[in-house]
Amino acid sequence: MAKTIFEKIIARESPARFVYEDELVAAFHDINPQAPVHVLVVPKKPIPRIAEATQEDKELLGHLLLKAAEVAEKLGLKHTGYRLVINNGPDAGEAVPHLHCHILGGRRMHWPPG
Ligand code: 5GP
Repeated sequence: MAKTIFEKIIARESPARFVYEDELVAAFHDINPQAPVHVLVVPKKPIPRIAEATQEDKELLGHLLLKAAEVAEKLGLKHTGYRLVINNGPDAGEAVPHLHCHILGGRRMHWPPG
């Protein structure tokens, strides 16, 4: 299978502005930000989307969410708030088939989302 753009970013074959990395996840700024702060938290394991995750990924998914909260705090969003988004499949507008959690913040979010 061809590498996703996120695998290339993680392998440093494509550039990105990293804000966090450990052995399991990487976080970098989105190339097309939809809010003043828009960062993607990506598991290094290329799970295509949350619907494809299995019991085996339980710990990794917990780590992903905890790190998203940690990164959001590091970006100064803890007190103002932020939104975490995971798009799954066509109706959600999923564009990159490599699981990722969006951190969006720095402005008031709308509900329901568009
Ligand atoms: P999705 O719609 O799949 O949830 O979100 C994919 C996200 O990846 C989009 O917000 C898009 O702007 C971002 N993205 C796509 N290509 C690149 C890239 O090459 N670099 C970075 N940093 N973000 C990207």
